[in-house]
Order: sequence, then structure tokens, then C-alpha cells
Amino acid sequence: MTSIAFIGLGNMGGPMAANLVKAGHSVTGFDLVPAALEAAREQGVTIASSAPEAVADVDVVITMLPSGKHVLDAYGTGEGLLAAAKPDTLFIDSSTISVDDARVAAKRANAAGHRSIDAPVSGGVMGASAGTLTFMVGGSEADFGKAQPVLEPMAGRVVHCGEAGAGQAAKVCNNMMLAISMVGVSEAFVLGEKLGLTNQALYDVASTASGQCWALTTNCPVPGPVPGSPANRDYKPGFAVSLMSKDLGLAMDAIDSTGTHSQLGTLVAEIYRKFAEEGGAGFDFSGIINQIRDNSQDE
Ligand code: NAD
Repeated sequence: MTSIAFIGLGNMGGPMAANLVKAGHSVTGFDLVPAALEAAREQGVTIASSAPEAVADVDVVITMLPSGKHVLDAYGTGEGLLAAAKPDTLFIDSSTISVDDARVAAKRANAAGHRSIDAPVSGGVMGASAGTLTFMVGGSEADFGKAQPVLEPMAGRVVHCGEAGAGQAAKVCNNMMLAISMVGVSEAFVLGEKLGLTNQALYDVASTASGQCWALTTNCPVPGPVPGSPANRDYKPGFAVSLMSKDLGLAMDAIDSTGTHSQLGTLVAEIYRKFAEEGGAGFDFSGIINQIRDNSQDE
């Protein structure tokens, strides 16, 4: 049994903390929202009256917060989680934040005498509840080894991607790939419709040909061919456009700071930013097909 503090018990953190309790760990939690605290208490999480109190006497601190600013603020420079934790505590940040912020967080944690990994996840709220998240980890071999048994009850897969920031790098690259492929698949379906192809015919060919990808065969943007995809339930997420747009913003930060010549990454970030702004934020990201259809001219 490991003593764990869990900071940020929202849509993802709540069920993740619950899975740690189920695995027999002692979990103390804190969130700013009373309803999140109540839901966690019902799952067996011990509730602390502040974040510093939650981390004061544990071996591992997990943060699952909205953004890099939230993480760095919570870690603190003077007072904060880093100062409140006992020496050699393992800090695991599972929030999706920029690579640069993840490296700063690791540096500050190490300077304060702690271990640190970035461990963002993919798999969404369903994966968090089922304990099947994919964790992408950045940090030293030793810290990764210490984190593995703690991540296990929340994970379907845990991949060590490299040193500090490498987990966030893998996450941002994967999601940029996903966004580009979703827009590509969606444009192809609209073009197919205009050429008189049925969606099923295009799916039957592309799903076993070189167009095959996750955006097509799992999250298919048209209703019918893949019964479980969000297109079959009016594009209810799934993976919401607001979250995809946030992740593409982080990809843009990385593209800018590394000077990468990424024409499609830049374009797709703009496509999703605009879609979110024009009312698409709450839909699954495959809903972009409706905007492509709307913006296409009638023959
Ligand atoms: P959420 O908004 O539901 O939860 C975040 C929680 O953090 C909230 O309950 C908020 O009250 C709490 N919080 C904020 N500041 C705090 C502080 N200083 N101390 C304690 N609690 C604080 O968000 P979420 O959907 O759980 O996402 C969390 C992170 O996981 C984000 O970085 C997100 O990008 C990432 N993520 C989300 C999904 C998803 O499908 N929701 C999937 C993968 C990754």
C-alpha cells in the first residue's frame, strides 16, 4: 500500500483516485470544488482541508489539473505543494500541459528535493473510470520505476517516453496526428458524398486500404459504418472539440518553440480553434465534418 495525495478530483481525477482506492492504496484528496470532494469521499478518498495538508505526509503526489499554470501555481515557488511535502516525495503530474511547463515543474520539484515525472494520459473519462488509460511518461528511469506500481491500477498501458517533458511531447504529437487525420478523413467523406459515393462504400474500401487510421475505423465521422462512433449519437463526445483545441494550442507552442516546419499542424490548430469559437466546442472532434459540409458549395 502506498500513501498518495490526489490534487484535482474533476472528470478525470475523480475516477482515477477511485481506482487507486480500489487497488488498496491510501488516498488523500483535495479539490477546490465541494461537489468533487463529496463524490471522491463516496469513493473512499480521505478529504483534506487544503492541498498542502493533503501532501504533508504521503509518498506520492498526483496532480490532475486543467493547465500548466494551475500545476506550476500549485507546486509553488515558496509555499505550495513542493514545500509542504516531505523530502523525496514522488510528484506525478498527469495534467495535459506544455512540454516547457512540464520541464519547469520537474526542475522545481527536483530542486526542492523531490522525484518527478510527467505522466499525461489518453483514454478520456471512460478510460479513467475503467482504469484503462494510456500513460505517457517523462522522467528518469528510477522515478519511472517508482511510479509504475502507482500508475498500474489506473492504466491499460504505461510507456516510458524519455526524460522530463517526454510524456507531454508524446501526447502533443499524438493528438496533432489525430487532429490532422480526422480532418483528412472528414474532407474525404464529404468529397465522396459529392462524387456520389455512399459513406459505406468509401468506408469499406478505405478501412482495409491505405486510408486506414483510428479516425476512420474507431471514431468514424459519419454515422453508420462504425456503430459506436460519436457520429451515431449527434456527435456527443467522446473527445470534445474544446479539449482537442486546447491540445492543439499546446502543439502550436511546441511548434513555435522548436521552429518545426509544420504546415498541417498549424492549419489544423486554426481549423479547430475556429470550430470551437463558432459553437462546436461541446461536440466530439469528429463533428468537424459538419462544418466542412456546411462550408462546401452546392453543385
Ligand atoms: P476538470 O476541469 O474536470 O478537473 C480539474 C479539477 O481541478 C477541477 O475539479 C478543479 O476544481 C480542480 N482544481 C483546479 N485548481 C485546483 C487547485 N489549485 N487545487 C485543487 N484542485 C484544483 O478537468 P479534467 O477533464 O479532469 O481534465 C484534467 C486534465 O486532464 C486536463 O489537463 C485535461 O486536458 C486532461 N485530460 C482530460 C481528458 C478528458 O477527456 N477530460 C483526457 C485526457 C487528458
